[in-house]
Amino acid sequence: MKLKKLLLTSALFLAAYSTMQAQQTQVIAHRGFWQTTGSAQNSIAALTKADSIHCYGSELDVWLTVDNQLVVNHDDIFKGVIPQDATAAVCTAVRLDNGEPMPTLRQYVLKSRELSTRLIVELKPHRTPEQETRAVQGIVRMIHDYDLEGRVEYISFSLHAVKEFIRLAPAGTPVYYLNGDLAPKALKDLGCAGADYALTVFRQQPQWIKECHALGMKVNAWTVNNAKDMQWLIEHNVDYITTNEPLLLQQILQENKQ
Ligand code: MG
Repeated sequence: MKLKKLLLTSALFLAAYSTMQAQQTQVIAHRGFWQTTGSAQNSIAALTKADSIHCYGSELDVWLTVDNQLVVNHDDIFKGVIPQDATAAVCTAVRLDNGEPMPTLRQYVLKSRELSTRLIVELKPHRTPEQETRAVQGIVRMIHDYDLEGRVEYISFSLHAVKEFIRLAPAGTPVYYLNGDLAPKALKDLGCAGADYALTVFRQQPQWIKECHALGMKVNAWTVNNAKDMQWLIEHNVDYITTNEPLLLQQILQENKQ
């Protein structure tokens, strides 16, 4: 009887443990969910669609315009417009591939108040640290004003921007550095929430995943679009995967649960 009970407890524990393992990896839609009808990278539609398929987060890229407004786009030159050298009026006159005007961050944030996916806000590296500081100040203030502080994470390739997010966002807000050149301990010392690096970085240094976890930090890998890489990362217990293929990743996560 005792043995039976022990075996049952062990089986339940193993089942719970494997579910826990499978649930650990969360899906972040890279520039929103855009590879679907009516969507486009960094569009309001891409944010809405990422939310509709229950992604943990929807990533977006932010620029500060020459008149100190914040707009959402990835490219340093988009359809002939350089966001950091243009006014917000010029930027928002540009149409995305789905016909939407280039969104302002305010429009993005307002829409996200109706949704539940987290905003993974990337500040693009600007020409000067002063621009980045102004951008970080504007972003942090806006997120505060629209009461989204519990649902935002900040990321950047710029070390200066990362330091400014850590300095200016409320304590405990997750901030990640993207550039891949700092070891987990250095990230911890900076105050980062973890490593948010290219898949290739973790392929070359898989021990960084364990090191991050041992330091109480999270791991996110980008931009992972094929099943084999997704499976490898899931088996290495990464916390988040940023992907252009959120439905494929969800399917693989589901298969890992079974
Ligand atoms: Mg990005």
